[in-house]
Amino acid sequence: MNIILTGDRPTGKLHLGHYVGSLKNRLELQNSGNYDKFYIMIADAQGLTDNFDNPKKIKDNVLEVAIDYLSVGIDPNKVNIFIQSEVSELTELTFYYMNLVTVSRLKRNPTVKNEIKQKNFDKSIPVGFFCYPISQAADITAFKANIVPVGDDQLPMIEQTNEIVSSFNRIYGETLVLCKAMLPANKIAQRLKGIDGKAKMSKSLGNCIYLSDSSEEVYKKVMSMYTDPNHVKVEDKGKVEGNVVFMYLDVFSTDDSIKKYSDYNSLEEMKNHYKHGGLGDVKIKKVLYNILEEFLTPIREKRKYYENNIDEVKNILKNGTKNARYAANNTLKDVKKAISINYFE
Ligand code: ATP
Ligand code: MG
Repeated sequence: MNIILTGDRPTGKLHLGHYVGSLKNRLELQNSGNYDKFYIMIADAQGLTDNFDNPKKIKDNVLEVAIDYLSVGIDPNKVNIFIQSEVSELTELTFYYMNLVTVSRLKRNPTVKNEIKQKNFDKSIPVGFFCYPISQAADITAFKANIVPVGDDQLPMIEQTNEIVSSFNRIYGETLVLCKAMLPANKIAQRLKGIDGKAKMSKSLGNCIYLSDSSEEVYKKVMSMYTDPNHVKVEDKGKVEGNVVFMYLDVFSTDDSIKKYSDYNSLEEMKNHYKHGGLGDVKIKKVLYNILEEFLTPIREKRKYYENNIDEVKNILKNGTKNARYAANNTLKDVKKAISINYFE
């Protein structure tokens, strides 16, 4: 059995990091047909854990994220797109899994540690936020998912999930299924940097190029990208490592697109020229801009269609959620039976 589950927090629209880190693998899996069940979750309840004071932001972005999925080609006939908070079984599972995790274990999670710092939660961490890795374990195991296409910031969550699965099965008997992260093959895509070159591209950090950005916005963002601060004059030797423009070219270009939009035959050739001096930042940025535009134009067009057909999007979410609830309810029954709290069965 191959059951796939993955998702995104509706804390903003989806960006290039989501695409290369996870959406691309989802599309490949979807088109390969090599799966039995496929679920994509819009994690609104998780989004609330660090945005509880701004529920409107979460609510508004549920539809935006759904439209992003459909615009990149997620097919609702093959994939169940659902809303996390509408599947209350997930919250119930979380409660039982909490017994299997210690506070010190949660504190060791490197992704959570990093996010606590970013969100200034150092002094007082909301319990809901602190526990989100447990709720993520509920999301994955509720569907008995074994494949989870994600970026590498999610590896600690997968590890935590598998620890919960092992503990549960050891204590209560074989019930839950272990899962595996599916990372993008391209190392840079596993954690795409933001346009500032500092941290990962992330909705919360404002360093994103969104799949829905206009041509003008993409142009402005590409022109403002971090390159090599010592590459001042065109003749200067330039550094390719840590240079965001080249990182993105590594992920988004092909030999064909390099030939189409530059005077080079390959990205290697272009990099060599940059390293030896004589190739300016504006030139490399224009190449990247054109390549991104070719990628984003059809996505933007599909987006327009769904923006004008919101009822169709809502129906897709309703159907997907119904199917998700059915599956999660079956797992919850198994879980309660294993713990022997199925009193009236
Ligand atoms: P937030 O800032 O609210 O956490 P985010 O931009 O980190 O938002 P998430 O919804 O947390 O996005 O992540 C959804 C999925 O996208 C996860 O699988 C995550 O690994 C992946 N992802 C997010 N950002 C990147 C990135 N920069 N590179 C690769 N994958 C990413
Ligand atoms: Mg995140």
